[in-house]
Amino acid sequence: MNNRLYGKLIFELSRPGRKGYSLPHNEFGSYDIPQELCREQEAALPECDELTVVRHYTNQSANNFGVNNGFYPLGSCTMKYNPCINEEMAALPAFSALHPLQPAETTRGAQEVCRMLEQSLCAITGLSAFTLKPFAGAHGELTGLMVIRAYHEKRGDTRRTKVIVPDSAHGTNPASAAVCGLDIVEVKSLADGTVDVEHLKELLNDEVAAMMMTNPNTLGLFERSIPEIAAMVHDCGALMYYDGANLNPMLGACRPGDMGFDVMHINLHKTFSTPHGGGGPGAGPVGVRQGLEDCLPCVSPYNGNFAVEIRALAYILSLGRDQLKLVGPLATLNANYIKECLKDVYELPIDTLCKHEFVFDGLKDKSTGVTTMDVAKRLLDYGYHAPTIYFPLLFHQSLMIEPTENESKETLDDFIQVMRTIAHEAATDPEVVKGAPHHTPIKRVDDVEAAKHPVLTYKAMQAL
Ligand SMILES: *Cc1c(COP(=O)(O)O)cnc(C)c1O
Repeated sequence: MNNRLYGKLIFELSRPGRKGYSLPHNEFGSYDIPQELCREQEAALPECDELTVVRHYTNQSANNFGVNNGFYPLGSCTMKYNPCINEEMAALPAFSALHPLQPAETTRGAQEVCRMLEQSLCAITGLSAFTLKPFAGAHGELTGLMVIRAYHEKRGDTRRTKVIVPDSAHGTNPASAAVCGLDIVEVKSLADGTVDVEHLKELLNDEVAAMMMTNPNTLGLFERSIPEIAAMVHDCGALMYYDGANLNPMLGACRPGDMGFDVMHINLHKTFSTPHGGGGPGAGPVGVRQGLEDCLPCVSPYNGNFAVEIRALAYILSLGRDQLKLVGPLATLNANYIKECLKDVYELPIDTLCKHEFVFDGLKDKSTGVTTMDVAKRLLDYGYHAPTIYFPLLFHQSLMIEPTENESKETLDDFIQVMRTIAHEAATDPEVVKGAPHHTPIKRVDDVEAAKHPVLTYKAMQAL
């Protein structure tokens, strides 16, 4: 819990002339910085004593919530544990002190890391070659679509300007296609949440460059028709793109390459465990099947977010082939366990076996007026990070839960208990849920005001 004083901005704690250090006069005399190198005006930096600075930042850091603080069931994001060995490997000076412009002959070890990771990803996905350059999943999508465009252009087939995307797709899919200059065609989902193959048939023609799919899809459902879909898409001359953000539950079960996908990206920060809250860092390697290798980009001297790549390789090697095969089944077991234990009090619109994640459509009892937003805010009071809310857009009150494979049964049971308590509160004392959170440093914020009139700068140097 934050102290009233040290929770203020560091600028508010500033006092003119106060210093964070005091050095004795030394025997070497002093060195004056030449006048022409000095700034003309004092930099407006806070002036604080060291202890105040230490307390301020230590208190600030305690406000952060991460996987190392508690359960983080953020659907679609795969917030999994990042084993300590990963950090030790990424921090090795031989890696962390590298400069991206260093001569190649002095970076053999780092190149070996990249080569081993590429080989591991090929083995895991059943594809033929990977580039590690893209910096995130969305960047990988754009790169992959450019690979597909290069493939069609090489064959002199310039009419293919359309990309088919399911209506359940992550927003980055249509966005990447648009940035790539391609037109988006949406294919509908069936009532069971999977792609409508009959509708897809109507959309296929010689203007289609690719079909983008996520599997399991954003509802956490396995797309059983992929072999059939892949055959149809290939028959019309287009390629299959696999959005590998949901690769986690596939580990140990099946490989995208064997299902007929031609190009894919992997979100290393999701499936292979790099902490990625707040938008980074990430890595989105792109893989291709045999025959497409020469469409991969190769001009940039850089190799993506190298520290994320080290963590991914450390994760893969420390689990090893046999343990890696348990990742998908355990993530799937955990998700189904939570779903089955809560579906009597939360609305489950698609009641089937899920993979690594699933979606509730708010509370089952809609008469209380308690929304998914209220449930998410109330979870913070109980020390849990909220699940993903209001995505996917297929339902009005989406509450998307993804537990990952690392969580103990005790953690899952306590989360289930808390979710049931909140459902009970909604029925008996709805105002306590609607007014949540009550125990966090910042209470409920006005989302609309924050979006329409954000205050993004700090001006006044107020006295305490
Ligand atoms: C996370 C995610 C993306 C985007 O990946 P980033 O690394 O955040 O750019 C794309 N598709 C799906 C299904 C995702 O879950």
